[in-house]
Amino acid sequence: MKVPYAKVLCDGNEMKYLKEVIDSGWLTTASKAKELELKIKTMVGAKHAFAVNSCTSALHLALDAMGIKRGDKVLVPSLTFCATAEVICYLGAEPVLVDIDYQTRSMSADTIKTAIEKCPSAKAIILVHFAGQALNMEKIVPLCKKHNIRIIEDAAHALPAKDKEKMIGSIGDITCFSFYANKTMTSAEGGMVLTNDDNLAARIKQMRLHGIDRDVWDRFTSAGTGAKSAPAWMYDVVAPGYKYNMPDLNAAVGLAQLEKLYENRDGRERAVRFYDENLKDIKQINLPKLRVKYSDHAWHIYSIAIKSKTITRDQFIEKMTEAQIGTAVHYRPIHQLKYYKQKYKFNAKDYPETEKYWLGAVSLPLFASLKESELNYICKTIRTILNE
Ligand SMILES: *Cc1c(COP(=O)(O)O)cnc(C)c1O
Repeated sequence: MKVPYAKVLCDGNEMKYLKEVIDSGWLTTASKAKELELKIKTMVGAKHAFAVNSCTSALHLALDAMGIKRGDKVLVPSLTFCATAEVICYLGAEPVLVDIDYQTRSMSADTIKTAIEKCPSAKAIILVHFAGQALNMEKIVPLCKKHNIRIIEDAAHALPAKDKEKMIGSIGDITCFSFYANKTMTSAEGGMVLTNDDNLAARIKQMRLHGIDRDVWDRFTSAGTGAKSAPAWMYDVVAPGYKYNMPDLNAAVGLAQLEKLYENRDGRERAVRFYDENLKDIKQINLPKLRVKYSDHAWHIYSIAIKSKTITRDQFIEKMTEAQIGTAVHYRPIHQLKYYKQKYKFNAKDYPETEKYWLGAVSLPLFASLKESELNYICKTIRTILNE
C-alpha cells in the first residue's frame, strides 16, 4: 500500500468558476475576489477582508498597517514556517522568538508571558495557531493588551477554527489566512487579511495595490463604463505600496474550495479520531494535546512526537518512507536557521520545549479522503517500527 502525506481535492465547482472568469475577459482582481472576501468575512465574523496573493503578503501588510518599523521588536514562535519571521525583517524590525508548550506544539499564555517579561518593549506579536488549534485567546488577548502589544494572527493552519464561541479571524487586531496549495483550502496561491479596525483596513487596502487610493476594479469599471466616479487616470498614490492583489483566476478556485471547507475538515477529523484511538497506547509516541473540541479544530496537521530510546526521528521517517507512507516535519525551528541564528545570535537553550518537540516531530498523512484501510496500514506500520 502507498499513502501520500497529502492529497489536494479539487472535486467541486473549480472548473465552473474558472470558466466564468475566463469567459468574462478579465482574469485578475474583480468580482470573484470580492465575493471570496465577502464570504470569508461573513463566515468568520470580521468587518473587513482583503484577498491577497499569499499569507506571507498578508502578514507583511498587517505589520505595515500597524506601523512596525526599523528597530521594533516583534514576538513570534520559533516553531513556525519561515514566512512568519521573514516578514518582520522586511520592515527592518527584529523577530524575538518565543518557546512553545511541548504538548500542544503552540505558544501558550505562559510562554508568551515569559517572553514579554524578557522583552517588555515588544510592539506586536504574531500568534500561530499551530496545526489548526486555536490558542487560548481568552487569556492571551488581555495579556497583550496590558502590555500594549498588538496581535497579528498567522492563521495559515486555522480555517475554520474556533476558540470557545469565537471564530479565528474575528479576534486579534489582524488575522491572516493562507490558501497555498497544501492548506485547508486553496486558491493555488493566495491569502487573506481580516480586521475589525477601520484604520488598519484603510491602510491594508491601499498598500495591497501600489499605495493607490482606489482599487483596480474601480479603475477597470470606470474606464469601461465611461467614468462613473472619477476617470481612471485620476488616481493618487499615498505611499510606495505593494502588488499583492489576488487574481480572479485564483479566487475562482478559492470559492469552489470554500464550499467544501467543512466537508473536508470533517473528513480530516475522522482520520484524526482514528489516529488518536489507535495510537494512544503506544508509549514511544506523544500525541498532540487537544485544548479545544475536536469540532473546533481545523485539523491541518496531525503532529506526533517520537520519544523512543532506540530509534531517532530521522530513522523513524526513513522506515515510514520504506513502507511508502508520506510524512512531513513541522518545522525546523527559526532559531536553527542560518540567517536568523547568525544575525540574532539565537541559542537553542532558550527554546527547550521547541527543541524537545523538534527532535521527535513527525506529521502523519492527513487529508479528507484518507480511507480506513490506509489509516489501519499507517497505524500498524508505526507499531511495527516501534516494536509495540
Ligand atoms: C503556509 C504558511 C505560511 C505562508 O503561507 P503562503 O500563503 O504560502 O504565503 C505562513 N505561516 C504558516 C504557519 C504557514 O503554514
